Amino acid sequence: MPRLLLLHTGGTLGMAGGRPSALRPAAFFKTLKSRCPELFQLADIELELFCNLDSSEMQPALWSRLATHLHRRLPDFDGAVVTHGTDTLAYTASALSFMLPGLDKPVVMTGSQRPLGEVRSDARLNLIDAVLSALQGPPEVSICFDSHLYRGNRARKVKVAEYDAFDSPNYPLLGTLGVEALFAPGLRQKGPRRLRERLESRVFLLKVFPGLDPALPLALLPQVRGLVLEAYGAGNYPLDPTLGHSLLPLFREARARDVPVVVVSQAHRNGVDLSLYESGAAALAEGALSGGDMTPSAALVKLMQGLAYHQDKEARARFIQTPIVGEMTDRPSNVHGTPAKKSRRAR
Ligand code: ASP
Repeated sequence: MPRLLLLHTGGTLGMAGGRPSALRPAAFFKTLKSRCPELFQLADIELELFCNLDSSEMQPALWSRLATHLHRRLPDFDGAVVTHGTDTLAYTASALSFMLPGLDKPVVMTGSQRPLGEVRSDARLNLIDAVLSALQGPPEVSICFDSHLYRGNRARKVKVAEYDAFDSPNYPLLGTLGVEALFAPGLRQKGPRRLRERLESRVFLLKVFPGLDPALPLALLPQVRGLVLEAYGAGNYPLDPTLGHSLLPLFREARARDVPVVVVSQAHRNGVDLSLYESGAAALAEGALSGGDMTPSAALVKLMQGLAYHQDKEARARFIQTPIVGEMTDRPSNVHGTPAKKSRRAR
């Protein structure tokens, strides 16, 4: 029988309670064995309690510990399933993908919208599909949810109260688990399995919005080592100094302080092309880095890792703008879906 490691980290899947009281983490393995005994027909499963938290409590230090644990334990297994709350699942999946380069076995993350102990729970099928994906799916960090397998660092939580909670707007599915379970080959990473668990967590994720006072992020700059800017559309932001809200001084100041600014899009599909409009081109001229079609969560974790491992500015910029584990599309000019036009005027 194949050997599988099942690490529980918490989330709704293993919670108990519910209205009128609040859902909270509960004893999980007893419920798992009584509600989902067929899981143990698929593989010889070793159960481990890593932590038992609502995933809003997840922190970079826990990602590092989780990656270290997986790196150490995986040689003894054919694959791993990590159960996790859905709220920060996409962040943790991104972190694990960057921290485990050269991964040669599936690490499949899953969770659920309703606890395993409930009659209409989605947890049972998600768990069975996740185990199957960890035995037959591609050797990368993925998320299995509602009969779909997503690349972990491409996924977003898009729904709060429906079973198809995840989407991967910029990358095709790695698997569909219908009547037949079908899997894509996925990543075939070169090089040996490594552990890159260090992160610089003094970063900030800033969303541009109409009315954002540029003085606020400017005041923040001395506190941070890096910034992800969720800009509009193709990477746009207010530029015109006469209108009083230009964010260009933020890029200038960040450059002067050697604080990398990674620009990603608020739009879910496609990505930024900083050469397309005036504001993006001005940011590029001030040294902004293109996050291409990365999700904000993948860009944030990648920035944390880039800062921890690359002191040299050029090497850091190259790392951030190059696909490492399938988290971004190779050629940023194609990401926007139109042939690159230079500096189309925004106004
Ligand atoms: N609050 C829960 C968590 O992320 C939500 C879930 O698991 O669906 O832990």
